Amino acid sequence: HNIISVNDVTKTYLGGTFTAVDNVSLNIKEGEIVAFVGPSGCGKTTVMRMVAGLETPTTGGIQVSGHDVQGPGPDRGMIFQAYTSFPWLTARQNVEYGIKILGVPAAERRERAQKLLEEVHLIAAADKYPAELSGGMKQRVAIARTLAQKPEVLLMDEPFGALDAQVRWEMQEMMVEIMDVEKKTVIMVTHDIQEAIYMADRIVFYTRTPGRIKEDVYMDFKQGHR
Ligand code: ADP
Ligand code: ADP
Repeated sequence: HNIISVNDVTKTYLGGTFTAVDNVSLNIKEGEIVAFVGPSGCGKTTVMRMVAGLETPTTGGIQVSGHDVQGPGPDRGMIFQAYTSFPWLTARQNVEYGIKILGVPAAERRERAQKLLEEVHLIAAADKYPAELSGGMKQRVAIARTLAQKPEVLLMDEPFGALDAQVRWEMQEMMVEIMDVEKKTVIMVTHDIQEAIYMADRIVFYTRTPGRIKEDVYMDFKQGHR
């Protein structure tokens, strides 16, 4: 069944004079890994931010798990291009803090943090501070912290865009492994068509302007593989 439904959503800015997203509709099934691809400024981040609840559609509606989206929530975990860890906490403390604020008890926090730090291959650096970590490692902390919150949906905005090519490939490979284990529904925004083909089951291509969907491609070869 559909976990995400975007229904006739339009988003305008500048008092209605600029249309960033023009009447987009999209259904995403549970477990699908969907890449939004298109040139800069085509509206893909805006669609994702509306699913996240960080922006409100001007017209139309968005449902996640059958509920109208009204602001952000822990059911939708987010990973941004800029690493978003707290510099005064170690990698492990960052992961634990993310679930402490959700009220997860201490013993379970430790257990979940340990498991996720293992999944992102960061155990050896678990007690280091972000300043001691490379860009790729900092992004591993952000991924572990978000997954520890057990979101149903993972929203990633150019997650590896700030990393150099070699590290980006390692991160893509790791993320595919994690998605095989965690079975999340994923939307990822990317400029990188290779990344989309490697990671996604389905690629939604946006038109140059204004923000519409040009092509919605299911990559059956990948699904057969999973
Ligand atoms: P993409 O992610 O495809 O690069 P965005 O969704 O970020 O594109 O932006 C779509 C368009 O909307 C762009 O032209 C951008 O400049 C514009 N836009 C985004 N946010 C705002 C805003 N808060 N006010 C005005 N224009 C915006
Ligand atoms: P991206 O990295 O996806 O291209 P941007 O750097 O364009 O994103 O946008 C970062 C933030 O600025 C977002 O919150 C977006 O909504 C806002 N923004 C983007 N374009 C404009 C704009 N033309 N006017 C005002 N805000 C904008």
